[in-house]
Amino acid sequence: EAFRKIGERDEKVQAYITLNEEGARTQGKKLDDKLVSGEERGLLFGLPAGIKDNIVTEGLRTTCASQFLSNFNPVYDATVVSKLRAADAVTIGKLNMDEFAMGGSNENSSFYPVRNPWNLERVPGGSSGGSAAAVAAGEAFFTLGSDTGGSIRQPASYCGVVGLKPTYGLVSRFGLVAFASSLDQIGPLTKNVEDSAYVLQAIAGYDGMDSTSAKVEIPDYVSALNGDVSGLRIAVPKEYLGEGVDAGVKETVLSALKVLESLGAVWEEVSLPHTEYAVATYYLLASSEASSNLARFDGVRYGQRVDHIGSLLDLYHESRTQGFGDEVKRRIMLGTYALSSGYYDAYYLKAQKVRTLIKRDFDQVFEKYDVIIGPTAPTTAFKLGAQVDDPLTMYLNDILTIPVSLAGVPAISVPCGFADGMPVGLQIIGKAFDESTVLRTAHAYE
Ligand code: GLN
Repeated sequence: EAFRKIGERDEKVQAYITLNEEGARTQGKKLDDKLVSGEERGLLFGLPAGIKDNIVTEGLRTTCASQFLSNFNPVYDATVVSKLRAADAVTIGKLNMDEFAMGGSNENSSFYPVRNPWNLERVPGGSSGGSAAAVAAGEAFFTLGSDTGGSIRQPASYCGVVGLKPTYGLVSRFGLVAFASSLDQIGPLTKNVEDSAYVLQAIAGYDGMDSTSAKVEIPDYVSALNGDVSGLRIAVPKEYLGEGVDAGVKETVLSALKVLESLGAVWEEVSLPHTEYAVATYYLLASSEASSNLARFDGVRYGQRVDHIGSLLDLYHESRTQGFGDEVKRRIMLGTYALSSGYYDAYYLKAQKVRTLIKRDFDQVFEKYDVIIGPTAPTTAFKLGAQVDDPLTMYLNDILTIPVSLAGVPAISVPCGFADGMPVGLQIIGKAFDESTVLRTAHAYE
């Protein structure tokens, strides 16, 4: 059924890069056997799942939407993929994205751009645009995405689905192709909050293969969804409803707050004063980490190697010149510059200090409040092509998701209405490892 829908719709939406029909059929047979034998069923039994194409899958091509990896077949599964299999979900394919997860519109895919199922002329957001569009178009029951500066939440917002970025360290990054290791997190995209809780339940937990994986007790996320938000203390940062946020988006978010109020929650305006520095801080830190992480793509160890090469240096040079797209090159150059000797203190170290200040903003607000709420993105999905030539404008779309990533705390985007005919996302941000409150609030609202 999932493949039928993909066949019907994906020609237009272009959410998938690779389909796993054979693998899915084999797995489906195993599940049939389970039914017959009466063996216990996993938490996600039989659910068709799409996986973002920067998460490695054994024997199933994993491209990161890059020409560099257009022929890369991993020899192992990411921890999240093994966990999904253990929960009896079925991997149906690999999802389109911005190349190496760098971008906010999916137009940086080196294959083809994903289109927003609500309006094919609009972008689905990014970088997990395929993950969001596939759920919105019914081309998967749920998907996994990755979020470094907003890449799960912003596409969820643009495509009218639920996207959760867990606390940094809650979900293993083992087998996620690294973009910015201190920020990357894997999380679920789903039709509703309950599904999100189920998928999180299946993928969360300590993993010895990821050195930044957190040793924390995993609560029962599903039973946290009790519908009760009476007395919940909500903080609404004035920076999140200020300049640059579309009037329609603001209005939609304010009416969502009214709904929460009617359910017994209370909200007050607060300030996260360092918000204005977040975008610059993020792009410096993320690009620095990316320049280091992407050094492994040298034409020798992974992916494409160019032919007819003289020296080893030529091999590196030519492979990287041909293999990477413009945005990836832009980030590598920026990051290499920021990390180079003589500039390190002025840029990288300074950015790390500002990151601490941003995190402190959150700590202070969370002393008095349970959750922070605002829009996920300042606008709804824009038209394809509208921002491709203007990377700085593109970077500013992340202004409301990036501070959360820098602070490492969890946040969900839930659909909260429409502005100019396109979906708007409500962002609910929680304390570190308090996904339960985030999910409970989102579920009560939904
Ligand atoms: N749009 C942001 C960027 O381009 C976020 C990407 C992400 O979270 N992977 O870096």
